Amino acid sequence: MSLFSSFSDTSNSISTERKTLFAEVIIPVPLKTTFTYRIPFELNDFVQSGVRVVIPFGRKRVLTGVVKSVTQEAPKGYSAKYILELLDEEPLITQTQIWFWSWIASYYMCSIGEVMNAALPSGLKLSSTSRLQLHPDWKNGINQEEIKEKQAEYDLSEDEIRLINLLELENSLTYEQAGEKLDLQDVYQIIKKLTQKRIVIIFEELKEKYSPLKEKQIRIAEKYATQEGIAEAFTKTTRSVKQEELLLTYLSKNPIKNYPKSISKKELLGENLSASSLKTLIKNGIFEEFEKTLSRFEFEEWTETESQISLTSTQENAVNQIFEHFQDKSTVLLHGITGSGKTEMYVSLIEQVLQSGSQVLMLLPEIALTSQIVVRLKRIFGNAVGVYHSRFSDNERVEVWKGVLNGDINFVIGVRSSVFLPFEHLGLIIVDEEHDPSYKQYDPAPRYHARDAALVLAHKHQAKVVLGSATPSVESYFLAKQKQYGLVEVLQRFGEATLPEIQLVDLKKSKKRKELKENFTLELFEQMKTALEQHEQVLLFQNRRGYAPYLSCEVCEWIPECQNCSVSLTYHQRANELRCHYCGFSTKVPQTCSACSSTKIYPKGFGTQKLEEDLQVLLPESRIARMDKDTTRTRTGYEKIIDAFEKHEVDILVGTQMITKGLDFEKVNLVGVFDADRILFFPDFRSSERFMQLIMQVSGRAGRRSGKGKVVIQTNSPSHPLFAIISLHDYQTFYNQEILERQEYSYPPFARLIKLMVRHEEREMAQKAAFILSKKLQPKLGAGRVLGPEAPIIERIRNKFQQAILIKLERNKFDLGKTKEFIQSQIDELYKDKSFKKIQVVVDVDFV
Ligand code: ADP
Ligand code: ZN
Ligand code: ZN
Repeated sequence: MSLFSSFSDTSNSISTERKTLFAEVIIPVPLKTTFTYRIPFELNDFVQSGVRVVIPFGRKRVLTGVVKSVTQEAPKGYSAKYILELLDEEPLITQTQIWFWSWIASYYMCSIGEVMNAALPSGLKLSSTSRLQLHPDWKNGINQEEIKEKQAEYDLSEDEIRLINLLELENSLTYEQAGEKLDLQDVYQIIKKLTQKRIVIIFEELKEKYSPLKEKQIRIAEKYATQEGIAEAFTKTTRSVKQEELLLTYLSKNPIKNYPKSISKKELLGENLSASSLKTLIKNGIFEEFEKTLSRFEFEEWTETESQISLTSTQENAVNQIFEHFQDKSTVLLHGITGSGKTEMYVSLIEQVLQSGSQVLMLLPEIALTSQIVVRLKRIFGNAVGVYHSRFSDNERVEVWKGVLNGDINFVIGVRSSVFLPFEHLGLIIVDEEHDPSYKQYDPAPRYHARDAALVLAHKHQAKVVLGSATPSVESYFLAKQKQYGLVEVLQRFGEATLPEIQLVDLKKSKKRKELKENFTLELFEQMKTALEQHEQVLLFQNRRGYAPYLSCEVCEWIPECQNCSVSLTYHQRANELRCHYCGFSTKVPQTCSACSSTKIYPKGFGTQKLEEDLQVLLPESRIARMDKDTTRTRTGYEKIIDAFEKHEVDILVGTQMITKGLDFEKVNLVGVFDADRILFFPDFRSSERFMQLIMQVSGRAGRRSGKGKVVIQTNSPSHPLFAIISLHDYQTFYNQEILERQEYSYPPFARLIKLMVRHEEREMAQKAAFILSKKLQPKLGAGRVLGPEAPIIERIRNKFQQAILIKLERNKFDLGKTKEFIQSQIDELYKDKSFKKIQVVVDVDFV
């Protein structure tokens, strides 16, 4: 990051008339305004909307901001501080983006600075986490003699020397620390000088530093890459058995017809081949050695793109319908069941839009993105695709940003934050799995919904949108039925495959008959065994990680709870720990009950870890893997598990909802679902919808090629009406029933919901503030539209008590903008009350 590029060289072009200019700067703080800074004269010609600048903020902070606009109007009532530095010669943020940020801030009721924070990859921000360090070229452990010499050589001031000494002592410091420790106001100027002198460097504190993966590769030389050539090569090795061995091994792993494909040196040498013989072969020109930069997915090389796929007539028909709808509608909902080939249909759309010269954005839920779909799309579109993922390093994300900005990248596949990339002429946005709740950002602000934001962005670009799902959200399906969106339905799987059969197993009966092996019913267990015998693979879905959801005392039923949150702690057996899944608190497993001192503390319920361990005992021959948040913490954890499963190195994969999304495995015909009731009876108006989606999605993983898929659901309530609908894969009936309920109780899509969460360390304060706030809101909005306050299911999180107020606004009855302004004004008024100084009100618009 060249933060300190100097513009003094070009400053001679400054106009003779010295205007005093100010910049409105967006700053990453939760304050709902921009800030005015004075532009130094020498930068008058360069500061413009969309460039980044470094500005002082508060006493000792230095931040990166983005210039929103330039004005001649001086701020009233105070004198503006100067911009310290200009970071870009050309705007890095487009006018469309600034417009979009403002829209998000106003719709989701947060500050534009918060939006900027979410929008910019941290590689483009100089934040309070930026750290200083001595430049590697600067000699460490310098003595007093030497520093005197250097002082003259580098023209160092006393303060500069103090900072150098401090950095020698501390190794690295943030801006703020440096300012405080040296007690300097203008520490920025000193840092700036020292960086220009190449004594200090600034770096972002990244969770992981990006360095390209490199690997030594071996390839046979071109002149030997024919049958005759090989024969000749062998004549050159007659005296060495070891060299022959190497040649033979090479050919077995990488036949001549593969030329110019190479293989890795490590793979070639394997366990016991001779490295020195390889060296000789390289020296003699038979092999070539070179370094290859590996992509983090270890994609194959894309020397040739996959041959054109041909759509089935059903698929082609659907694509044509989509284009027809685009004549008079900007959005189309593609309802295509699992395995109908939505990806293939997207590809056809994308190709056509890219050919017209427009940009394409394809949004995917976070977890689906690391998987096979990206590999498939990369195969088709080559490396010109930009992939934007939160697991990627900052460098990579900055690369994608710049690639989109300068037109090198026309197609981006990305997670929700890719709506923030600097597109200039979007033609199409695809939102795959549009129903997925992970499109909504919960925390921190902006609490935006990427699907809804994408619709607004598309409108701005006059682009088209395809929302795709096998289980559309009730909202989107409603709008399609209302003819606001075009609706295209593909209710047939590709090829011979049909939707899997669903079998409900009554857990209560199994328990009565004492048929349970741990948590496996006889029905599921027997079918698993059969599947394994037939060399098929099995997916098991349990939406709860850890070993057991909680521990409980046999004698008095005491349950260990988190000290910061009102939730029970989850038992993680391998670490022998209790963990809070809300705040991360962890503690050793207690030996005795805190209430009655009994030692009879046992795990209750089960999570993925327990299923995995039981399987190892029940089916010792089979190879088992687990996929959940605990096993996918590292950046490659997820891909490794998928890869092993794909190569059939794993027979049974146990996982949380991570395994329900988008995976496509040939040999999976059996899917088992545990603990289904817990999702079904979750107290939320969306629980039916979520349940239907989860079960239909996870079922969708079975029998994708063979057409003999089977889903076994273990439940205590097999007679629940939803099961009948799901067993028939009957989305339509589900929707027809659900929409009536939503209407009756005035829930989305008939109303918009805004949730206000009032937080305070003391329960009473939270209650009192929430009560007052709801009373302020009721007269104008109507008592029936302001529900609560009440304690949410989890009343205390991270030591703060919460009270929830729910505001329901019927669709098309309200001026939303004005209503939100009113709500905000009432919150601001609450803040003004001194006794509520520590109150925090979190606003969540359209919460899901
Ligand atoms: P969905 O996303 O709708 O669940 P996919 O796009 O993953 O479905 O397709 C399901 C499977 O069928 C994939 O393995 C895909 O490669 C295959 N498939 C779908 N359509 C075609 C086609 N027209 N030609 C070849 N294979 C196809
Ligand atoms: Zn007890
Ligand atoms: Zn906690």
